[in-house]
Amino acid sequence: MPATLIDGKAIAAEVNAATAAEVAELAARGIQPGLAVVLIGDDPASQVYVNTKVRKCAELGIHSVRRVLSADATMAEVLAVVAELNADPAVHGILVQSPPPPQIDEAAIIAAIDPNKDVDCFHPVNVGKLLIGEPGGFAPCTPRGVLVLLEHCGVDPAGKHVVVVGRSNIVGKPLVALFLQKAKGANATVTCVHSATVDLAEHTRRADILVAAIGKPEYIRGDMIKPGAVVIDVGINRVRDESAPRGYRLVGDVHFEEASRVASLLTPVPGGVGPMTIAMLMRNTLQAARRNL
Ligand code: NDP
Repeated sequence: MPATLIDGKAIAAEVNAATAAEVAELAARGIQPGLAVVLIGDDPASQVYVNTKVRKCAELGIHSVRRVLSADATMAEVLAVVAELNADPAVHGILVQSPPPPQIDEAAIIAAIDPNKDVDCFHPVNVGKLLIGEPGGFAPCTPRGVLVLLEHCGVDPAGKHVVVVGRSNIVGKPLVALFLQKAKGANATVTCVHSATVDLAEHTRRADILVAAIGKPEYIRGDMIKPGAVVIDVGINRVRDESAPRGYRLVGDVHFEEASRVASLLTPVPGGVGPMTIAMLMRNTLQAARRNL
């Protein structure tokens, strides 16, 4: 039987509807959540991401601020904008769109963001809280989105073997931290594999829940998946396709056709994890604003 698809768009729409209702409740109490998005340079993909975030804010009743700096902006200029946003009471969440131009030290910018406004959960203080499992801390958007998808599908990771492919600070490592927590919706046995792993497939084939986040198109083939596993594909890769209107199509890190013959549940790309990332960003902004109650 082919895998059942996990409809990330529909689940994200449900999450967003709940967020909009909670934003309205908060606004009635005099607090409108606000998100500031800082874009440095004119990278087209980053512009698209920023516009999508700003649009989603408007849809959900969240106030948004867009700050655009030129591609040759200095560290001092970016830090000044961050300081201004840290001090702005109408702004509860701040994110600096990644990747910044090469002259910008991204880690230093992240460290300058007020941890209480760090809705991406990249600040070392929030990463530490995530690892400790401190309640009330932010969870990073994409990893949190993965856990919410599983929850909506009735998949409880407790006691299951989760294999995370990739160890980036944005996806892989925080996913490991989330799945590992002794908490509802987590409590898994976690293996993390990466580019130095010997015989990667030997590990992925033992996964009850397999999460791929490596940025390599269709890298995870059907024979690397345990029959009946739940497969979450975080990857978003452009591959050339002359038959597609834009000359390319998006594929994940998992070979979709092969995986759908082996897995029980599978996220498509696009329409799987992607919409959840923005939905979680909106929830983190709401959570940050609630701290002002
Ligand atoms: P990074 O490039 O930062 O990290 C990739 C990770 O995969 C690294 O840990 C790397 O290992 C590992 N890796 C690379 N090649 C292999 C391989 N052949 N075998 C095993 N491990 C490998 O990527 P990100 O984590 O930022 O993103 C991963 C993917 O997820 C991308 O396609 C990205 O576009 C997508 N993404 C999607 C989001 C969404 O909203 N859906 C959000 C964020 C990312 P090593 O550490 O050893 O180099």
